[in-house]
Amino acid sequence: MRLILLGPPGAGKGTQAKILVDAYGIPHLSTGDILRSAIAAETPMGLAAKEVMDRGDLVSDEIVNGIISERFDAEDAKAGFILDGFPRTTTQAEALDQMLVEKGMSLDGVVEITADPEVLVGRIVNRAKESGVARGDDNEQVLRKRLDVYREMTAPLVDYYQRQGLVRTVDGTQPVEEVTAAIRRAVHN
Ligand code: ADP
Repeated sequence: MRLILLGPPGAGKGTQAKILVDAYGIPHLSTGDILRSAIAAETPMGLAAKEVMDRGDLVSDEIVNGIISERFDAEDAKAGFILDGFPRTTTQAEALDQMLVEKGMSLDGVVEITADPEVLVGRIVNRAKESGVARGDDNEQVLRKRLDVYREMTAPLVDYYQRQGLVRTVDGTQPVEEVTAAIRRAVHN
């Protein structure tokens, strides 16, 4: 099973990805998580990415395309994967299509998780308060920037994948278990 989870920050992509990983036994490939690990490990890539991420901007296509291409070659990705946070731009989607062709793989679906922007702001402001260890980009001002970047750069990917007939839309404002059930129904249709 090869899936992309698409949706604005706070829509629940990470939460759903973790549940689906257990259900399908395939890895969760989150460019955001990989970049945050690189920041924590203070690698050159992490140092370069930190400032951009803390502003709510996108890291370069070159960096994230490289991360994903490398990740696809790992043994655990042979059985499939759940992409979360990648692709985020049309250039990344085109690079992904090319990687899939080269590696002889194809996508099973693109799950679009929708939610009202104001619900998302509330969720993320709460996530920052409750976790105590807030992500550098989980404050309201940066979040609004991330939502703008999503609308401008990433939302067009819904059309991109619609043209490939891959999009299944799920309402992300339902309770977590219902979103999971809706995704499972959507990808088995
Ligand atoms: P969220 O799900 O809240 O949008 P992520 O953890 O997916 O957050 O990403 C956090 C930040 O990491 C993004 O705002 C961006 O700076 C960077 N990032 C993650 N994935 C990508 C990507 N595919 N392209 C460019 N930047 C990325």
